[in-house]
Amino acid sequence: MKKVPVQCRNIRLSYGETEVLKDVNLDIEPGEFFALLGPSGSGKSTLLRLIAGFNRHQQGQLLIDGQDVSAKAPWERNVGMVFQSYALWPHLSVWDNVAFGLVERKAPKQVIKEKVGAALELVSLSQYAERRPSQLSGGQQQRVALARTLVIEPQVLLLDEPLSNLDKTLRVQMRQELLAMQRRLGLTTIFVTHDQEEAMTTADRMAVLDKGGVQQVGAPATLYDYPVNPFVANFVGTMN
Ligand code: ADP
Ligand code: MG
Repeated sequence: MKKVPVQCRNIRLSYGETEVLKDVNLDIEPGEFFALLGPSGSGKSTLLRLIAGFNRHQQGQLLIDGQDVSAKAPWERNVGMVFQSYALWPHLSVWDNVAFGLVERKAPKQVIKEKVGAALELVSLSQYAERRPSQLSGGQQQRVALARTLVIEPQVLLLDEPLSNLDKTLRVQMRQELLAMQRRLGLTTIFVTHDQEEAMTTADRMAVLDKGGVQQVGAPATLYDYPVNPFVANFVGTMN
């Protein structure tokens, strides 16, 4: 697995008159588990969707592996995104949900078989391949969504509040699973959350967003001990 950096250079995005991202600069290191933390409405999803290619910025550059991908379509960017709602196909089996992206890309049958098998093994769901999503627990559905994204072998993994639909106990367990998997794969991962504790306990480094602006970037302990402004101090210092 090649580890690639992701860089945002002076990125601005507005919806009409409303400026949603204000001059965002970020340097995400190859192989890093990076958290985007901020309150609801701070622009986290907008920034993640922009990196994935579903939103377009009006100014600035987005570099993945050193290349400006601003003009590229989502499928040309080698990124995989897991949505908050999972967005699984209810009428398809777990296997077919995971195979979907490869079938769409017209991968050969044997390749699909091998890759889907490996992805399901990675998330410990091999024995559930024939089930429908509705026959799985929330945590298992979340793992299907992850497998479906990983099967296309992205260079960057984007997770938008992937654990927020789970109850607290499962959330803490899945958090560790996710981190262990990320460490095994070494995949550059950007993880959006509004949960301070989740970011603090998992991220190599994190950025705190407020009103579309990056307030501070650094290791969790650094932000906790040396916040640059009262917003960061309050937000990072308040545990759920
Ligand atoms: P977060 O994920 O941090 O909760 P979002 O990125 O979803 O925040 O939203 C940031 C801001 O952008 C919010 O004020 C939201 O209302 C606004 N916004 C998001 N999407 C759109 C859209 N498609 N059109 C207009 N405004 C939007
Ligand atoms: Mg959001």
